[in-house]
Amino acid sequence: MEKYDVKFKKKLGQNFLKNINVVKRIVDVSDIDDNSLVIEVGPGGAIMTRELALKAKNVLAYEIDQDLSDELFKRLDGFDNVNVLFQDFLNSDLASDVDNYSYDKLYFVSNVPYYITTPIILKLIKSGLKFNKIVMMVQKEVGDRFSTEPGSREYGSITVLLNYFYDIKKEFFVSKKEFVPEPKVDSLVISFTENEHKLPLKDFEFFEKILHDSFQYKRKNIKNNLKAYDLKIVERVLNDFDYDLTVRAEELSIEVFVSLANALYK
Ligand code: SAM
Repeated sequence: MEKYDVKFKKKLGQNFLKNINVVKRIVDVSDIDDNSLVIEVGPGGAIMTRELALKAKNVLAYEIDQDLSDELFKRLDGFDNVNVLFQDFLNSDLASDVDNYSYDKLYFVSNVPYYITTPIILKLIKSGLKFNKIVMMVQKEVGDRFSTEPGSREYGSITVLLNYFYDIKKEFFVSKKEFVPEPKVDSLVISFTENEHKLPLKDFEFFEKILHDSFQYKRKNIKNNLKAYDLKIVERVLNDFDYDLTVRAEELSIEVFVSLANALYK
C-alpha cells in the first residue's frame, strides 16, 4: 500500500489512492498508448500519473496545491514525459496548453477532486477538444446520476447534458477503503466516449439554460418551470412526443429537450 508524507487538505478533495491495483485498472480502462497525450487533474502524490506516464507519450497534469510540489517531483523523478502545471484546472487555458503537444490521441484520466466534478466535465466539453476517451473516478452517487435513465429519481439536467455529448459507461466500483484518508463515500470509475449521433443543436448555452430551468423546481411540472418562455411552443413540442404541459422534466428524454431548446431559441 502506498504511503504519503503529506498533510492532506480536505477542502481540496485530497483523498489519495493507496492501492496500485485500482490505479492499474483505471489506466487499463482508458486504452492509452505511446501516441497519446493524457490530461490529468490533481496528480496529488503521482500514483496515477506514473502509471499513465509509463503508457502514454505525454502526460499534462494540473495540480492546484503548490505544497505538494516537493513530494510530487520526488515521485516523478525520471519521468521526463510528465509536465505538472501548478494551477487551478478550472482557470487553465486547456486548449492552448494542449496545443503545445503533438499526439495522435487525446485522453483525460483522473481521480478528480469531487467538489468540482461537474465543472471539470463542463470545461472539457466547452474546450472543444476531441477526446478519444475520458475516464474519471467520481463519487458513487454522482456516477449513478450521470448514467441514469428518464423517470428515475437521480435523473437531472446534468444527466441530460452529459448523455447528449457522451456515451457513458459505469466501469467499476471502488470502495472508500482504497483511499487515504478514507472518505465518507464510495466511488465509481466511469468512462465517456463521444456520442457520434448527436442531434443538431442550435445553441449550446441555450440548451444548458433550458435544462437548468426545466429541472429548477423538481416538484413542479414543465408548465411552471418554463413559464418564462412561449408556452404555446413548449406545448406543441411536447405534443409531438405525446406529452402535455403537466409532464415533469425528469420524464423527458434528451431528444425532447433538444427539440424544446431548438424550437424556443430566438
Ligand atoms: N490523483 C491522486 C490520486 O489518485 O491519489 C490525487 C487525487 S485527489 C482525489 C484530487 C487532487 O486534485 C488533489 O491532489 C488536489 O490537490 C487536486 N485539486 C483540487 N482542486 C484542484 C483544481 N481546481 N485544479 C487542479 N487540481 C486540483
